[in-house]
Amino acid sequence: MVELQSHLAGKWSPGSGKTTTLRNPATGADVATLHAEGHDLAAAYRFAREVGGPKLRAMTFRERGAVLKAMSGALHGERDRLIEASMENAGTTRSDAKFDIDGAIGTLAYYAGVAESLGDRTFLVDGEGIQLTRSPRFFGFHIAVPLEGVAVHINAFNFPAWGLAEKASVALLAGMPVISKPATATALLTFRCMELFVQKGVLPEGALQLLCGSATPLLELLRRDDVLAFTGSGATGTLLRGLRTVVDHAVRINVEADSLNAAVLGPEVGEGSDVFRAFARDVAKEMTQKTGQKCTAVRRLFVPSGVADAMVAALGEELAQIKVGDPTNDTVRMGPLATEDQLRDVRAGIQRLVADGAKIVWGSPEHVDLVAGDAAKGAFIGPVLLRHDAPAKAEAVHAHEVFGPVATLLPYEKLEDVPGLVARGDGSLLAVVHAEDAKTVAALVRGLAPHHGRVWVATEKVLDQATAPGMVLPSCVHGGPGRAGGGEELGGTRGLAFYMQRTAIQGDRAMLERVLDVRGE
Ligand code: NAP
Repeated sequence: MVELQSHLAGKWSPGSGKTTTLRNPATGADVATLHAEGHDLAAAYRFAREVGGPKLRAMTFRERGAVLKAMSGALHGERDRLIEASMENAGTTRSDAKFDIDGAIGTLAYYAGVAESLGDRTFLVDGEGIQLTRSPRFFGFHIAVPLEGVAVHINAFNFPAWGLAEKASVALLAGMPVISKPATATALLTFRCMELFVQKGVLPEGALQLLCGSATPLLELLRRDDVLAFTGSGATGTLLRGLRTVVDHAVRINVEADSLNAAVLGPEVGEGSDVFRAFARDVAKEMTQKTGQKCTAVRRLFVPSGVADAMVAALGEELAQIKVGDPTNDTVRMGPLATEDQLRDVRAGIQRLVADGAKIVWGSPEHVDLVAGDAAKGAFIGPVLLRHDAPAKAEAVHAHEVFGPVATLLPYEKLEDVPGLVARGDGSLLAVVHAEDAKTVAALVRGLAPHHGRVWVATEKVLDQATAPGMVLPSCVHGGPGRAGGGEELGGTRGLAFYMQRTAIQGDRAMLERVLDVRGE
């Protein structure tokens, strides 16, 4: 069995104390162990600040991009081995493993491309210069320089590769050293990624450290020029926001948390039309990809009441095609949940929705027919579709995220009611719209945007060209208001702002243009 180590202050650190065992959720077999404590986190923190930070800040964007390109290449070169680690520790299908790993490889490569466009600078100049007085000599510029502290990244269990890469690529490009902590339950894949970075020698010293274990002692060290980026449950996010060190030192914190993403079918969409069928197909995929353990998975399905029965039938047909079981069997389309705890939480969540008036219209929380594997040993559950016919009165469906292959259909009467109903989710990452009519799109884009980080719209002309709704693209922002954490990541160069200090520089225009290396008119 593999013993997962951290990579801190330039060397592998096994940790000490209590042993935690990581399991294969499809078979229950032990796959790895780790010690959550016993790491010298003060030394790791100093190493990032004193070695990694200065090295990165001395590099140009182009040079930092070369690091990201090499990281992407290191993962790509061992993709098959990484897929195996994902299947073994997270119970993912091959396809779900690729979604995570290719997402990591692609995001690193994307930011390597952004670096090329930023060129041979070491900091950013933000916008044009501004004349500040009547004199054309006295000008103001805005620049963004890397913060001089440490970026601490804490990730959720569902994307052990992408979670590491999407945060690290932006921080490293901005010029900040990273200490990254994966969720314990699925840390094997993150450990394998780090092993590759170290073996291939792609990282500048101190640029990226891996912590497999508790982050608590590290969080006590945070100071004003450090940042904390967290992905996980709302409860942990709230706890981190309230940490003494975070509050006292005004440490920047970005939280990506729970989300009750909605899918909306426009009232004009005819039963059985291409758009109608695309809604059923996209929803079934979003419900079941990664066994529904995706922050962007849709949980609430707003459908015109006149076609609600037809949509239940269409979704049932799609879900019936999802073969569940041990993902080492090639016919399996959906693997188990990541842990037994998740299975318990998902079943309890479904009960909560039912207690609030929802009815199960497809699937069962307790029984699943497996095409491979042993239901008694793995954390298996099949897709479960619920329906609540009074979305305005319902409470639980708008408040509780069931982090599994579960969604609730909510029939609506009038389009103008939809934004208000969706907004009861209290802020989400994503709203998915399937429509035919520009008026519907206009009403939903305007009505849903204030409550979401992203609105994805499928109309006839893009049905076969659109990316999957749940796919997070590095070029567009990822995050959401309210319950979703109020955070924002990625979005091309937009994501760099979190890791940089924006400063207004005022003075002699000609002098500043020289110093900042901006060309005058
Ligand atoms: P979690 O229990 O909050 O754990 C998330 C991370 O926080 C893990 O690395 C965990 O470490 C760490 N952690 C837990 N308690 C901590 C503490 N007191 N101090 C410091 N770190 C702590 O969440 P989860 O159950 O793994 O993740 C599922 C949730 O994540 C879902 O609700 C989902 O919506 C959300 N999520 C959101 C996004 C997004 O982008 N918005 C993406 C993915 C997932 P250990 O594993 O070692 O306990």
